Amino acid sequence: MVRDVPFAESLGLAVLHWRSTDEGLFLKVRGHQEEVRLVSRCGRCHWIVHEKFASGGPTLVVTCHACNEQMTYALEGGGSAR
Ligand SMILES: [Zn+2]
Repeated sequence: MVRDVPFAESLGLAVLHWRSTDEGLFLKVRGHQEEVRLVSRCGRCHWIVHEKFASGGPTLVVTCHACNEQMTYALEGGGSAR
């Protein structure tokens, strides 16, 4: 059972793994047993995902396909599960 996480509640999530599928973007986050699905403010679940490796540590930058909503998360795991 995948839990949908609204964009507004996703602030500060630490992402261990992520995968992008036809059903949306699924994140394995610290403190959660199951994957969560990120839902944009516009109700869509499809995101453009970029991993960035900066001096402050790797981050995951996600941008909504539909409304360009953007969020950055700490990337603590190995990144993409693919
Ligand atoms: Zn959106």
